[in-house]
Amino acid sequence: MENCIGCLVSLKNVSGFFSATEELADNTYLCNGCGAKTRDILKIIDVFHTGSFQNYSSFQVQELLAKGIRFEKFSNQFVEKYNVLLSQNSAIKKLFNVLWDNENIVHASNAVYSNNFGVLVVTDRRLMFMGADLEIKLPEIIDYNEIISVDLVAEMSHIKVTTSENIFNFSDVLNETEKCLAEIEKQIELVKDKKLTEDRAFHNNNEPSLFDILERLGSFRQNGVITDTEFTEQKKKILEQL
Ligand SMILES: [Zn+2]
Repeated sequence: MENCIGCLVSLKNVSGFFSATEELADNTYLCNGCGAKTRDILKIIDVFHTGSFQNYSSFQVQELLAKGIRFEKFSNQFVEKYNVLLSQNSAIKKLFNVLWDNENIVHASNAVYSNNFGVLVVTDRRLMFMGADLEIKLPEIIDYNEIISVDLVAEMSHIKVTTSENIFNFSDVLNETEKCLAEIEKQIELVKDKKLTEDRAFHNNNEPSLFDILERLGSFRQNGVITDTEFTEQKKKILEQL
């Protein structure tokens, strides 16, 4: 007797024939319904899988199905808690993929950014705008450390974020605009405080050697946090201290 590894339904019907199934790499079975579901979940992470699952193990498929449940929960919370429209589903998908494991959302709202409809998201780590249109290459992600000022523009529901390099205008921030602004300001403060504490810790112990700093700079360069030129500049400064 075989059961679907997704929904656990018995795959033998009364007359003893298998229902429509797919065989997986580890000789287990997946019912058609769960197969379709798994393909939909792959789309969330931008994988368009049309063939069979014969190269997938039952573990891989179960992991994907669990991810699908997590996404559904995530997306429902968004709609209920922040009144984000269902038409923003692709923005929610983008957010689901961009969020770090230890990153928490503190506020979200439908918004418009450079004529694109989407979702403005305040997390405890970053400020982000996700475009609702699949074709549009947005997320726009802003580091709190780079923000110089956040203002509510005279026109209602318009938040202007000024960074050292850019000005971002988010209009039609319809979900509690003032609260959204307050949350951004609060997170900027928290990041500054954290940085201050870190700086102090840094000065208080001689732990991170110049070598450690060099190493960290190297990983910053690798992750694209700093450019090659910036790296070379910093490296030169450090070597001068030796
Ligand atoms: Zn099933």
